[in-house]
Amino acid sequence: MSSSGFDPFTQMRGQTRAVPPPPLEQAAFEASNNAVAASLGQGEDALLDAVVTVWARADRIFDTIRATPAYVLGTAPAACRRGCGWCCHQKVGAAAIEVLAMSRALAQRPVERAMLADWAPGRPCAFLKDGACAVYDIRPLKCRSLWHVDVRHCMAKYAGLPVSGTKTDPTFRSEPKMIYEGALKGLALTLIKEGRDCPGLDLMPALRAVIDDADAVRRWWTGDSPFPAQAVVDWFPKPVKKKRR
Ligand code: SF4
Ligand code: SF4
Repeated sequence: MSSSGFDPFTQMRGQTRAVPPPPLEQAAFEASNNAVAASLGQGEDALLDAVVTVWARADRIFDTIRATPAYVLGTAPAACRRGCGWCCHQKVGAAAIEVLAMSRALAQRPVERAMLADWAPGRPCAFLKDGACAVYDIRPLKCRSLWHVDVRHCMAKYAGLPVSGTKTDPTFRSEPKMIYEGALKGLALTLIKEGRDCPGLDLMPALRAVIDDADAVRRWWTGDSPFPAQAVVDWFPKPVKKKRR
């Protein structure tokens, strides 16, 4: 149960959870939940600011954990490095409110806006440049969560490249997964509890739909989705009741 009294895990559609979530997931959930809850009633900019706070708080939790001997010595190290972006060849997911926060930030970043405009379906993420993320500071929680131990697995799974030699290892580090998934639930489910629809979205088409729409946040807030239906990924339940301002 979160500090807000909202148990996200039994609220998920079709799911009950007999055991509490792992502490890392719960800590990230609460950090995220608190940031979003504190922003409610303070306008759309405050809510988008809360998304930035959620990203930063989850990063801080992960930075703390990854500095511990238990993390360093516990299991196989992740292969992730700057310049290694095979995971960015898959369809990228983001919560609706993250897409809106990215869109606001990109208003001041013409180079990255041009990258997005050049993207076409079937291509890797528009922001992948020379194997690195051009929007690293504002990338979605899903992007932050993936830390694989065998890059050859990523090359085969996400980029469809043939890899030879020994069998690839699909293992990923569970700590960032727990932290960023917890933060994602704290972000989206807190809004859903408030009556706002916050589905998971396919980032590229969702972001392109709102990047030039100055009214997108207000429309989303009042229940008029600015996102194309094809971009919706069914991660979260619908709000029980929709509030209207
Ligand atoms: S998840 Fe895989 S492809 Fe992505 S940075 Fe890490 S090793 Fe590279
Ligand atoms: S936003 Fe960045 S990290 Fe995420 S898929 Fe795109 S390039 Fe990769």
